[in-house]
Amino acid sequence: MQLVKLYKADAIVLRSRDCGEGNRILVLYSREYGKIRVMAHGVAKPSSRKRGAVQLFSHTNFLIHHGRELDSVSQCEVVEMFPALRGDLGGISRASYMAELVDIFTPEGEPNEPLFLLLLTTLRLLAVKEPELLIRAFEIKAMGLLGYSPVLNACASCGAQLQGPLSFSPAMGGVLCSTCNMVDPDTAPCNRGLVEILKILANWEPSRLHLLKVEGLTRKQLRTMLQKYIRYHLEGELKSAAFLSRYGQD
Ligand SMILES: [Zn+2]
Repeated sequence: MQLVKLYKADAIVLRSRDCGEGNRILVLYSREYGKIRVMAHGVAKPSSRKRGAVQLFSHTNFLIHHGRELDSVSQCEVVEMFPALRGDLGGISRASYMAELVDIFTPEGEPNEPLFLLLLTTLRLLAVKEPELLIRAFEIKAMGLLGYSPVLNACASCGAQLQGPLSFSPAMGGVLCSTCNMVDPDTAPCNRGLVEILKILANWEPSRLHLLKVEGLTRKQLRTMLQKYIRYHLEGELKSAAFLSRYGQD
């Protein structure tokens, strides 16, 4: 006789796909195991009591049954549903963007608890705080947690101190000094002020970011730099990025 193998996962629903007969395949980002893919039987049926717990972006405690091919949800209990985020297209597009970033950059079954906590904290804060800088901070922090921290303390090419006009080079992995400016034709404009803000976004607790005052042009430059950086590492486009710039305005 085979023992029934169950395990718990504290997770956020990143992606969900109907696969007929009221069943859904969920992609979860869990604290314990990183990204996992599970079958949720019957959850798409209108009568299912699990519907809320398996909705996109829900933070849910799962009890999962280990299966031969695909694990399946045995029980689930929603912890947080972030209703304020779901109330507008901006909130949904920001949450979709973060979920897609985590999904695309992480392999299955590789835990990264700080990344789980960053996603959870940012989802919570997005409902109550000014969203644009939270998204920028999420981008740079998540890239750091995935092993792609940009070099911000010295020139990423020659190691010299950062002086004069600077540029930001995704290919070289960070900020370039005025001498090295030419090594990469595809840079974003940068300056000392932007470098300092990037450091703050990378290092401050997300809950403190509302204290940071950043004017419109600088916000635009930050967005351009980080999107170039993410695209470079991704080698492609994110589906939700276009949606985000249309509905999330950031
Ligand atoms: Zn240099």
